[in-house]
Amino acid sequence: MPNMSLTKVPSEEQEPLVRNKNFLEVTMCYTPEQAVEEARRCLNCKNKPCVDGCPVNVRIPEFIEKVAAGDFKAAYEIISDTNALPCVSGRVCPQENQCEERCVRGIKGESVAIGRLERFVADWYLKNCNVMPVKPESNGIKVAVVGSGPAGLTCASDLAKRGYEVTVFEAFHTAGGVLVYGIPEFRLPKAIVQSEVDKLKALGVDLQLDVVVGRTITIDELMDEGYKAVFVGSGAGLPMFMGIEGESLAGVYSANEYLTRVNLMKAYLDDHDTPLKRSRTVAVVGGGNVAMDAARCAKRMGAEKVYLMYRRDEEEMPARREEVNHAKEEDIDFRLLCNPVRILGNEKGQVSQIECVRMRLQAPDESGRRSPKEVPGSNFFLNVDTVIMALGTSPNPLIRSTTPGLEANRKGCLVVDEDTMRTTREGIYAGGDAVTGAATVILAMGAGKTAAQAIDEYLSEKN
Ligand code: FAD
Ligand code: SF4
Ligand code: SF4
Repeated sequence: MPNMSLTKVPSEEQEPLVRNKNFLEVTMCYTPEQAVEEARRCLNCKNKPCVDGCPVNVRIPEFIEKVAAGDFKAAYEIISDTNALPCVSGRVCPQENQCEERCVRGIKGESVAIGRLERFVADWYLKNCNVMPVKPESNGIKVAVVGSGPAGLTCASDLAKRGYEVTVFEAFHTAGGVLVYGIPEFRLPKAIVQSEVDKLKALGVDLQLDVVVGRTITIDELMDEGYKAVFVGSGAGLPMFMGIEGESLAGVYSANEYLTRVNLMKAYLDDHDTPLKRSRTVAVVGGGNVAMDAARCAKRMGAEKVYLMYRRDEEEMPARREEVNHAKEEDIDFRLLCNPVRILGNEKGQVSQIECVRMRLQAPDESGRRSPKEVPGSNFFLNVDTVIMALGTSPNPLIRSTTPGLEANRKGCLVVDEDTMRTTREGIYAGGDAVTGAATVILAMGAGKTAAQAIDEYLSEKN
């Protein structure tokens, strides 16, 4: 008999006013008993609507059936058949818009907690088995991967499993892309990302860190060195600013820089050596997941007051509902329908105030979205010493500007054939945020997978 409870088995969380002072994980993993109880809510639907909602087609009812039977190892084998980073996706996938959105249990009550179950299985495996893969026999064909985010890691892993000699070139000193420099430790512990990188190394993938492709070496030079194909998974790390007065004052950061200093350079540890202002009052501008992460990090870094400024209302916020709720619980002060117009500085050139204007939402336009309009004369000032801009990012132009024949659209995203992820240059493939602009981890992984398959077909034909 299935468990017909209308609600998910809850996950335990750290208390909000305790967790907003530490970087430990906010949400605890299910216990085996909780996982079995939740798995019993799945009806094992014949037409599997949940699977259609998963970008990498995890065989959801099959793995959940194994969880319900207590066979967690078999559940892991099913998930990892199509999902290379289940420890990551189980934590950060926007499940509510993907697999869980299609779950029939969601029609009357809450959907099955597919993400939490996936995380449980992946964590269980990491703790109890974690068998390192064995390096397959080499076919002697060299492939280069640019960038070690989820797109690059997935592509490299799939190609290495097929016997290719894969080298990953990463600009930073640590592999993982946004998984290590963007998403904070309290949502995705870095040890988990490292364990995935270790598996890649066990497969024989050569990781070349501190190499900026396009500057240290170009893609054409890589091809001259004998790489027969290249996958570009360089992400979308170029931050946008508002273009308002005062953005060059000391104490104004892009969310990317702020989060990189906190997460990758470990500014939250006492022995860190990255310069980061010890802020008292912070304004974060934006309404997406990146803004939530920046605000929650600023609070944990010791700020007494953190404002979250967004020019629309809460309903229109692109951030995941769970992240918004977590941020509110953690004492982030939401200032909605409000937009900065100027940042003011003191005599030392440091941020001292932010001038904002109130906004009003207009009637929905053709796309159904209500655009915000300034309310004349509603300007007001807030005293702040730090401003963090979380307004979105776009791909860095370095690779396309140093690789002749590589075309990009007007947003700077590389143009690819969607079935193969082949770019406009033969032998060069691309995927993830470099192609879509800022998107999600699981979509980047899906693109890396598709590209690996296409590269294999291309090179098999050529050799
Ligand atoms: P990235 O992860 O950006 O990796 C690209 C890598 O390429 C980087 O390591 C970069 O250093 C390297 N690189 C760039 N240029 C070069 C070069 N010229 N030479 C060598 N290396 C280079 N998604 C979710 O699904 N859930 C979330 O909760 C979520 N939260 C997010 C929070 C933040 C703060 C941010 C910034 C993003 C978040 N995202 C989230 C989005 C998600 O992380 C990205 O969509 C995903 O990481 C894209 O993967 P990628 O492999 O394409 O690129
Ligand atoms: Fe759901 Fe993401 Fe797992 Fe797919 S990978 S089943 S979308 S949590
Ligand atoms: Fe189980 Fe929901 Fe998928 Fe049905 S739709 S198989 S109940 S997870």
